[in-house]
Amino acid sequence: MPAYDHNNIFAKILRGELPCHKVFEDDKCLAFLDIMPRAPGHTLVLPKTPARNILDIAPDDLGYVMQVVQKIAKASVRVFGADGITIQQFNESAGGQVVLHLHVHVIPRREGVAMKPPASFKEAPEVLAEQARKLSAALAG
Ligand code: AMP
Repeated sequence: MPAYDHNNIFAKILRGELPCHKVFEDDKCLAFLDIMPRAPGHTLVLPKTPARNILDIAPDDLGYVMQVVQKIAKASVRVFGADGITIQQFNESAGGQVVLHLHVHVIPRREGVAMKPPASFKEAPEVLAEQARKLSAALAG
């Protein structure tokens, strides 16, 4: 498998070189809103360790990411009134991965509402800012 690329866009977000609508951060993980959400509240959860995907991350680091995914899924149900949550995670381009730093998609779902196609819609920054504020407040409380 190719080596980790320290110039991928999520590595730049993790270093603070690019902005994000942050919903959660601790010493091991960062979570922020997807700028092209497939449904309102679509969040990405990343380990801070430089891993491309599930094929090179240490098992304990992957386990911790999934603990954060669960917290965000539960908070999303409350904040976005979700009836369900879709979790997606892609590995290498053949597996559908576009950004090569491991990330897990947490997508709040409403009954009978289809997800938008990938990269089909760019959400307004002020909408993302408000959603991030509500979700991070729910996670803190
Ligand atoms: P994938 O690697 O297939 O899981 O897709 C990458 C995801 O990252 C897509 O859902 C994009 O909409 C999302 N994305 C790309 N650039 C950014 C960014 N700067 N901030 C937030 N989300 C992003």
